[in-house]
Amino acid sequence: LVVPDNPTIPFIEGDGIGADIWENSRAVFDAAVSYTYGSTRHVEWKQVLAGKKAHAQCGTSLPSETIEEIRRSLIAIKGPLETPVGEGIRSLNVALRQELDLYACVRPVRYFAGIESPLKHPENTDITIFRENTEDIYAGIEWNAGTSEVRKVIDFLQHNMNVTKIRFPQTSSIGIKPISREGSERLIRSAIEYALAHKLRHVTLVHKGNIQKFTEGGFRRWGYELAQREYANEIADGRLEINDIIADNFLQQILLNPQRFDVVALTNLNGDYASDALAAQVGGIGISPGANINYASGHAIFEATHGTAPDIAGQNKANPSSLLLSGCMMFEYIGWSKVADVIREALQKTFAAGLFTADLAPSARTALSTSDFAQAVIDQIS
Ligand code: NAD
Repeated sequence: LVVPDNPTIPFIEGDGIGADIWENSRAVFDAAVSYTYGSTRHVEWKQVLAGKKAHAQCGTSLPSETIEEIRRSLIAIKGPLETPVGEGIRSLNVALRQELDLYACVRPVRYFAGIESPLKHPENTDITIFRENTEDIYAGIEWNAGTSEVRKVIDFLQHNMNVTKIRFPQTSSIGIKPISREGSERLIRSAIEYALAHKLRHVTLVHKGNIQKFTEGGFRRWGYELAQREYANEIADGRLEINDIIADNFLQQILLNPQRFDVVALTNLNGDYASDALAAQVGGIGISPGANINYASGHAIFEATHGTAPDIAGQNKANPSSLLLSGCMMFEYIGWSKVADVIREALQKTFAAGLFTADLAPSARTALSTSDFAQAVIDQIS
């Protein structure tokens, strides 16, 4: 992605702790850009509205101007959003991803020394998760089986297909799990391209194809076929190795030996579970970054992966690291990798010096506020 030296980047501050972490993260971003490029480069941050702020000012939680601004700018960064009750939106985050067809949810999980981990040897944990973002049961296609139209479909299945052994009492709820070849291929291709670009050899397809033979099994099969078709040279010369693992075994392995994986590609629901389980291995969602990307159009939203944390909102206690590291992903995406390196190194030194916000601090007495933590990171930069 080619950006001007002074790009305008839209940001959604977010609800709850959004204000606490955004203002402090922005100060770190500006310090890192200034340290890296002096006065030759600078980011113009442009606020776009979503969530509660948008509702208060525009009467809707996701104004079309916000979507259009992000569509124009290609990228944006955001804090967490609280989905409003009664606006007919299942989730604001899902709506944003669907509007821009952000099909890849990318979650790098990396251990920083100094942070407590349940692992015996957390030091080599460095996995990047590619979670499919548009299909699976997240498509939101579900009904109560008692409805007459749905009843007709069930009757049809029971009479015409081999599903007679399956009970569908009137009280059942039924969901559809669409997994397409196109959807699987574009996600797995992104994972492979990422692995090659970062000189990582193993791409693991995680699936439940032993039971769900068409959907999860399709994901696995299409992944192997794609790799053979488009990456035969890379496989032959040893730069790329595709393998697969059943999802339940994968969950066990990441709790015991996450070091064995480089890049993993998963369907939507499996990816959801695995992302947070892996995050817990390296300090939790407070320090786990994420991005939702459409590599074909270039659109990308970089976001804190945690929620609005209403229990600590407005108290200057939240950990800004998830948003800071998402910012690093964004700087890499626009080709400003040096800025990302500066922030990561400063964070690493801050943690190594034993400076933490309350979620990671060994005791409440030693915990830093959000702003003091961000200042400690800025001190490391300068
Ligand atoms: P949550 O992530 O907001 O909070 C879970 C726990 O983690 C809380 O104890 C919270 O204090 C803590 N926590 C979260 N982020 C933290 C941080 N940066 N620093 C320190 N502690 C942190 O999850 P929840 O309570 O289930 O959800 C609250 C709201 O957030 C809901 O409205 C939900 O819809 C929304 N949500 C939004 C997103 C998003 O925008 N991407 C993601 C998840 C949840």
